[in-house]
Amino acid sequence: MDFFREEHELFRQNIRRFVQEEIVPNVDEWETNGEIPRNLFRQMGELGFLGIEFDTEYGGSGADLWMSIVLAEEMAMCRAGGVAFSVVVHTDMSSPWLSNLGTTQQKKRFIPDIVQGTKVCALAITEPNVGSDMAAYQTTAQKDDSGWLINGTKTFITNGVYGDLYFVSARTNNTGPIHKQLSQFIVEKGTPGLTVSRKLDKTGMWSSDTAELVFQDVRVTSDNLIGEENKGFYQLAAGLQRERLLSAILSVSAASQALNDSVRYLNQRETFGDVLSKRQSLRHRVANLATELEAARQLNYSAASKLSLGKDCIKEVSMAKLFSTEAANRVAYEAVQFHGGYGYMRETPVERFSRDYRLWTIAAGTSEMMREIISKKILDEN
Ligand SMILES: Cc1cc2nc3c(=O)[nH]c(=O)nc-3n(C[C@H](O)[C@H](O)[C@H](O)COP(=O)(O)OP(=O)(O)OC[C@H]3O[C@@H](n4cnc5c(N)ncnc54)[C@H](O)[C@@H]3O)c2cc1C
Repeated sequence: MDFFREEHELFRQNIRRFVQEEIVPNVDEWETNGEIPRNLFRQMGELGFLGIEFDTEYGGSGADLWMSIVLAEEMAMCRAGGVAFSVVVHTDMSSPWLSNLGTTQQKKRFIPDIVQGTKVCALAITEPNVGSDMAAYQTTAQKDDSGWLINGTKTFITNGVYGDLYFVSARTNNTGPIHKQLSQFIVEKGTPGLTVSRKLDKTGMWSSDTAELVFQDVRVTSDNLIGEENKGFYQLAAGLQRERLLSAILSVSAASQALNDSVRYLNQRETFGDVLSKRQSLRHRVANLATELEAARQLNYSAASKLSLGKDCIKEVSMAKLFSTEAANRVAYEAVQFHGGYGYMRETPVERFSRDYRLWTIAAGTSEMMREIISKKILDEN
């Protein structure tokens, strides 16, 4: 089934051109700098790449999920996972909380800047002591007469250093069922008490900055609460489906590029009097990987189809995330292997791919957590 219509393909051509002309020539410099220039967000905002699904009323394009998938697939081919990651955190992994749960006032206040790329978004969920166990977050938000007082530490936050708007989860209730104790807030950079305590060094994804944030008596008003008080766990569980799907989409797209790079290399590198692509042991591995990527792609599109129709898709998205990110890592291992010594050299694109995409079996919910969710759906809910 073809999910993409003519307008999606036209959009794809636009983004592809932008990626080739404006991003690819610069990624090595951005990787060295450990961040992408803010101007990239502004450029992308001007071209309408950052407000794909937002309402036209707030400057968005009012388009569908498939358009966002096109953006992610094309961004993933810029040859630096961190660039795509940073942009997709802004467009799909944080700001949709506003369009899905925000009040009209919140949308008017924040969405135009997000769409124009003048403010960059970050999602601040993970904490030094709590990652996978979402109900156990320790950051607190205490209610008083003038709003909320937030205290705690968040870590591994993408766009954390130069982000402007942080979507933060915090404990707002210490009693009752554990799943009814969290809420979500939007916190603006510059709010007194919010500091970037560390910029973190990573294995890959260098061009996306990653930070630890400290919230010390950070005061926000009741207008900064997103969605319903104490419903944060459920809001996160629902919102994370988009994040997980997009990580799967990025993984398959970048892995396909790495496999194509490998095919080109196998076709030109000669050993023992013939090109590597004539060796059956290598040919069969390429066949296996290509099959896995095609299966992953179809699984992703099938999950996306459910998500776009607003259907329950937790099992399908978890399967897509699990399979796609692990398949991408199998491609990463083999792509390096196919390139021999060159595969281990910084100058070879698959080397960066193998470091960057190692992340995706960890971030946005680990493979173990995906297996937990899938097995729960299959074994406990039937
Ligand atoms: C580069 C990078 C960028 C990130 N960006 C963001 C971001 O923008 N915003 C954000 O909020 N977070 C972000 N994260 C955090 C990421 O989502 C977490 O690292 C991830 O959810 C795992 O949490 P953890 O690291 O605390 O691992 P833990 O939860 O401590 O788990 C450690 C290991 O134990 C396994 N494990 C845990 N519990 C179980 C269990 N019950 N059964 C079996 N195995 C289990 C896990 O699968 C994992 O392998 C980022 C992380 C990285 C590395």
